[in-house]
Amino acid sequence: MIIAIDGPAAAGKGTLARRLATKYGLALLDTGLLYRAVGVKVVGAGGDPEDAATATKVAQELEPRDLEAETLRSDEAAQAASKVSAIPGVRAALLQFQRDFAHHPPEGKNGTVLDGRDIGTVVCPDALAKLFVTASTEVRAHRRFKELQERELDAIYARVLEDMKERDARDSGRDVAPLEPAEDAFVLDTSDMDADAAFAAALDFVASKDRQDRVRLEPRRKHRE
Ligand code: C5P
Repeated sequence: MIIAIDGPAAAGKGTLARRLATKYGLALLDTGLLYRAVGVKVVGAGGDPEDAATATKVAQELEPRDLEAETLRSDEAAQAASKVSAIPGVRAALLQFQRDFAHHPPEGKNGTVLDGRDIGTVVCPDALAKLFVTASTEVRAHRRFKELQERELDAIYARVLEDMKERDARDSGRDVAPLEPAEDAFVLDTSDMDADAAFAAALDFVASKDRQDRVRLEPRRKHRE
């Protein structure tokens, strides 16, 4: 089972992905971390995240320990990620790793959940269930602002909103793998939903896809018997 979850920042993808992974016994990959790690490494070495040659080389040489950097969750990392992620060479370098993870879950897992921006459209167009999780820009900015306050980090709402708009525009407007729902994605707008309601709606959708898939495979299974 592969579940693809895409959508803009702070729409609730991460929480949903974690809960679905636990529910179905799936391995989880937050693909944003890969782009954040590339962005942080480029900036950390004094480079420009919009420089294609530098960022592509960093992406090609990314190591598992780069995904553990403390700074990956910062807003600076998010902005750098959004810049490097518009570079085709960076996306190409990270694509195979994501596909390998999706199709070869770690031992004991029933499949994978990947969350990001292009999972349903590019990385796993064959996913069993594709969700596009979204919410209004203001709601997402408020969530992000609250989260920063809870972490006792300095935050100004207007600045958070501005950053969010800037990142949305860059992620949706880029030429390669722009942020958009796959044709067969279930669009889940969480603007007026709490995490439990979003999880319940997502579960219904995944269960219906799972049922359809079993019906589709049944004749083949019977044929083998
Ligand atoms: O999901 P997260 O906020 O960690 O992603 C950081 C940035 O990485 C996004 O704004 C986007 O530019 C990029 N990204 C991407 N494709 C993905 C995941 C993340 O372009 N599959």
